[in-house]
Amino acid sequence: MGIINLQGVTKIYQTKEVETVALENVNLEVKAGEFLSVMGPSGCGKSTMLNLIGLLDVPTEGAVTVDGAATGRMKDAEMAEFRNKTLGFVFQSFHLINSLNVLDNVELPLLYRKSTEKSRRETARAVLEKVGLSHRTKHFPSQLSGGQCQRVAIARALIGNPKIILADEPTGNLDSKTGEEIMRLLFELNREGTTIVMVTHDEHMARKTQRIVRFFDGRRIE
Ligand code: ADP
Ligand code: ADP
Repeated sequence: MGIINLQGVTKIYQTKEVETVALENVNLEVKAGEFLSVMGPSGCGKSTMLNLIGLLDVPTEGAVTVDGAATGRMKDAEMAEFRNKTLGFVFQSFHLINSLNVLDNVELPLLYRKSTEKSRRETARAVLEKVGLSHRTKHFPSQLSGGQCQRVAIARALIGNPKIILADEPTGNLDSKTGEEIMRLLFELNREGTTIVMVTHDEHMARKTQRIVRFFDGRRIE
């Protein structure tokens, strides 16, 4: 069994008038240590799948298992704790808090844990060093380049030492050279054992990863 398993997963969004089948009977197994790319046209269900793996949403049918935990049986609080402990999220648009400096942004996930301020600072400095941003701890997001912002976001994703990183178009807002740098960083994390699932539109980036899974209209295609 993989570190991530989707079995017969269907996700239907139900609003008053419309029913949207975002995913239909999807099976997927991601092995521990894998670097997987997820591709497909806009609206095919990629973000929906990442949200299910990220325990941000639950399937309408089927089972999602992440790191041995059957997520369907968890309560919201358990899901939040599990998410905080096991998963790191990286987004296209970085999602940094503009009013906080780099160090404070990176520390955020640790505020939900019982840790002293001193240990939070030390851990934040260590992950910032890892992403090559030790010299920018006091800067604010508006004072950084896009690539630097994404490094901060990756440092924030890493601070809880997650087994899995879920990345939604991590290079989508970056020029190709900066995008390559971010990919190099992700590959380094993967080499150290982190499982990565990356949604991307960029065939060139995807081809560098171990495996590409393609979706069309809520279904997996080969
Ligand atoms: P992708 O990430 O591949 O662009 P999404 O997973 O965002 O695709 O969306 C898949 C389908 O589900 C789309 O048709 C989209 O309009 C629909 N959808 C996504 N989120 C919601 C929602 N919260 N409510 C209703 N429909 C949604
Ligand atoms: P986009 O590709 O449109 O820029 P993002 O990659 O920023 O979108 O976000 C992808 C998905 O993650 C969205 O469905 C969004 O609602 C969700 N999301 C955004 N911020 C967070 C967060 N801090 N924690 C959890 N989920 C988030």
